[in-house]
Amino acid sequence: MIRERIEGIKPQMHHLKYLAGYSPKITAQVTELVAENRLGLVLVQRYPKAHNIRTDKALYDFTVAIKNEFMRTAQPLSRVAYDGKIHVINNALGTHTFVSRVQGGKLKAKHEIRIGSVFRDAPREFLKMIVVHELAHLKEKEHNKAFYQLCEYMEPAYHQLEFDTRLFLTQVEMAGSPYLPEFQGHNN
Ligand SMILES: [Zn+2]
Repeated sequence: MIRERIEGIKPQMHHLKYLAGYSPKITAQVTELVAENRLGLVLVQRYPKAHNIRTDKALYDFTVAIKNEFMRTAQPLSRVAYDGKIHVINNALGTHTFVSRVQGGKLKAKHEIRIGSVFRDAPREFLKMIVVHELAHLKEKEHNKAFYQLCEYMEPAYHQLEFDTRLFLTQVEMAGSPYLPEFQGHNN
């Protein structure tokens, strides 16, 4: 009997992999929303609209605007792009690469930011959270205290947004993004 119940819970717990590290009370609440099929609705009520930053050019401009406001002295970005190949797990919400190469006898550094394409159909707040996260890595490689302070400096609601983004990723994996254009069309 007990074993059956535990096995019955397992598949749902698997869907909460994006919430590993959060308290049992919180994961229990989310498990309930998932079981009642209400997570997508909760997200859309809190964040009604998807952003319209559709192209890599628009994503680059969006990212550089935040960088210029808060991290002007950090090294320039050579490229920012959506990447459908990024498998969104745990901390790999986006990636940042640092490439050094010798060009004409000089060492050239290139910073690239890639954002999982799941964020193309998402609220602006979630996109900003992941962009802020990747920008902070220009200065702090590790997820340490200084890193999160920098994230909060650029986006005061960073921690709430990271949590809500994890809810969004849970929803996307289970039932798809509630922010896909065809779905949003019904709201207009
Ligand atoms: Zn990171």
